[in-house]
Amino acid sequence: MLRGLVFDIREFAVHDGPGIRTTVCLKGCPLHCSWCHNPEGISPSPQTLKGMTGDRTVGQWFESDRLASLLNRQADVLRRGHGGVTFSGGEPLAQAAFVAEVIERLDSLHTALDTSGYGTEADFRGLAARVDLVLFDLKLMDPVLHHRYTGCDNAPILRNFERLTKLETPYIVRVPMTPGVTDARANLTAMAEFLRNRPNLQRVELLPYNRAAGGKYAAAGMVFEPDFDETQAVRPDLTIFLDRGVPAVLA
Ligand code: SF4
Repeated sequence: MLRGLVFDIREFAVHDGPGIRTTVCLKGCPLHCSWCHNPEGISPSPQTLKGMTGDRTVGQWFESDRLASLLNRQADVLRRGHGGVTFSGGEPLAQAAFVAEVIERLDSLHTALDTSGYGTEADFRGLAARVDLVLFDLKLMDPVLHHRYTGCDNAPILRNFERLTKLETPYIVRVPMTPGVTDARANLTAMAEFLRNRPNLQRVELLPYNRAAGGKYAAAGMVFEPDFDETQAVRPDLTIFLDRGVPAVLA
């Protein structure tokens, strides 16, 4: 039996897929987005967070059957709320075999995968084909800018996106709005062109910028150094998508 490292289990989540959901946040992410609002989810190891009331350890190991039992105990509430379970992060693809084993043990619950898309083909296919919905986060279409702001190449992400469009799993594309970076007209235009006429795309969601993110870094022993002007207003221009026939909403 596999075990996985989880840094949060959010109950009654309403922004991670349809209905009322429990979101399992897997610890460890290969990206290092300069706007990341879950810095405690980046390291693939347990770590100590320093708070005003003392230290606490973030990152708990679960065997797959223990996590599945915990989730199955919530099944009635989640079904009544037309929701289910979302696997998020960090990056769930980094613990894909564990997540797959948990899903296998779930009691017919609706499942969603919230992913940056950064992972191997096998891991991506293995999870994307298994869940009922994929929440695919796209950030920057330009490879140079993507590397600059996330520390990673976007080619594997775009290849996995192409694979997703050939599966039957429906998906929502989520775009974090970062002032002057992801909300730039050139980026949103390139993204809208890329997403034109994609089968099974339910919609694009432009996510608000989280200005509280910086506060968590010090507790995690990290430094928040956004490589952009945080004080600028974000410009989430939906018309760039709608004019191209791509359904889009502000989340
Ligand atoms: S992909 Fe998500 S979890 Fe990973 S660094 Fe970026 S914002 Fe943070």
